[in-house]
Amino acid sequence: METKRLSPNDIETAAHIIAGGGLLGIPTETVYGLGANGLDPGAVKGIFAAKGRPQDNPLILHIPEESWLERYCQDIPQTAYTLARRFWPGPLTMILKRRDLVPDETTAGLDTVGMRCPDCALTRAVIAAAGVPVAAPSGNASGRPSPTTAAAMLEDMEGKIQAILDDGPCRVGVESTIIDLTVTPPRLLRPGGVTLEELEEVLGRVEVDDAVRRLMTPGEQPKAPGMKYRHYAPKAPVTVVKGDPDETAGYIVARMGERSGVLCFDEFQGYFRGHPVETIGPAADQAQHARRIFEALRAFDRLEVTDIWAQSPTDEGLGLAVTNRLNKAAGFHIIALP
Ligand code: AMP
Ligand code: MG
Repeated sequence: METKRLSPNDIETAAHIIAGGGLLGIPTETVYGLGANGLDPGAVKGIFAAKGRPQDNPLILHIPEESWLERYCQDIPQTAYTLARRFWPGPLTMILKRRDLVPDETTAGLDTVGMRCPDCALTRAVIAAAGVPVAAPSGNASGRPSPTTAAAMLEDMEGKIQAILDDGPCRVGVESTIIDLTVTPPRLLRPGGVTLEELEEVLGRVEVDDAVRRLMTPGEQPKAPGMKYRHYAPKAPVTVVKGDPDETAGYIVARMGERSGVLCFDEFQGYFRGHPVETIGPAADQAQHARRIFEALRAFDRLEVTDIWAQSPTDEGLGLAVTNRLNKAAGFHIIALP
């Protein structure tokens, strides 16, 4: 199959692909997604096949406006509307009780469904024109870092999808925050572009799922099914070093091998001369870390490195989402300096 490149003028063609049961690369503010009609079991199966995604990892349904929630969800708590009004369109996915028309293929058999309204006018227009909710996981092959440009998505999906709609690089860079509203207190399943602190302002107490900060042991059943899988990982093994940036840079310099790659803050690039280096922005610029993290991890696969050392951002605010992705890429191989 030849994968067509669509531009922002091609809304009708894009909507036609979705309505016809095809696979479409969609831009969003978080990462590029692999979209299909979320009510069509056959189309949804196509997503799993193209990604090589395990069947028990559910998808998120994307809708163009809050008023579509009732079509696919029931017993919706008032807090869902409060959150939607505050954070939608935007990088927040809410887990709610599903209606029967949402197929098991989309939810991996769960009686809940993840709902999101993306902050990308182009994609909302495509969904509205298609007239169906779009199921979309991140547009990477399963296990790889998520794509934040159309080119990165094509590295994994060329020839496997009908088309990709290019709307430039993603503004946020890490996937949506996932909050489960079917439990009390609400539970953060995945940190993302809407921060834990922002959610707590609206919801009061929020429980943070264990899988956000540590490795699930085999046999453990995490609440967000996707969280048990190896994720976001470049080919070379990653070691994350946590602590004051001056100290972590010094620690890495003293230990790295001849062909080690380094992921570091802009200010420390000069420490690692002669090594493949990917920078993620100034140490204090969390928004830039989020935009850069996946592209930096992907870049190491195009370079010859034996292993990768990474300076870790701090984990408050948006940093919780960035460190979560980095730690997963490292299989939680983390060295915390005193
Ligand atoms: P991706 O966009 O590739 O990150 O995949 C969507 C993520 O949303 C997966 O990691 C799922 O575990 C999570 N998710 C989707 N639906 C549900 C649900 N009903 N309950 C819990 N997590 C969900
Ligand atoms: Mg993903």
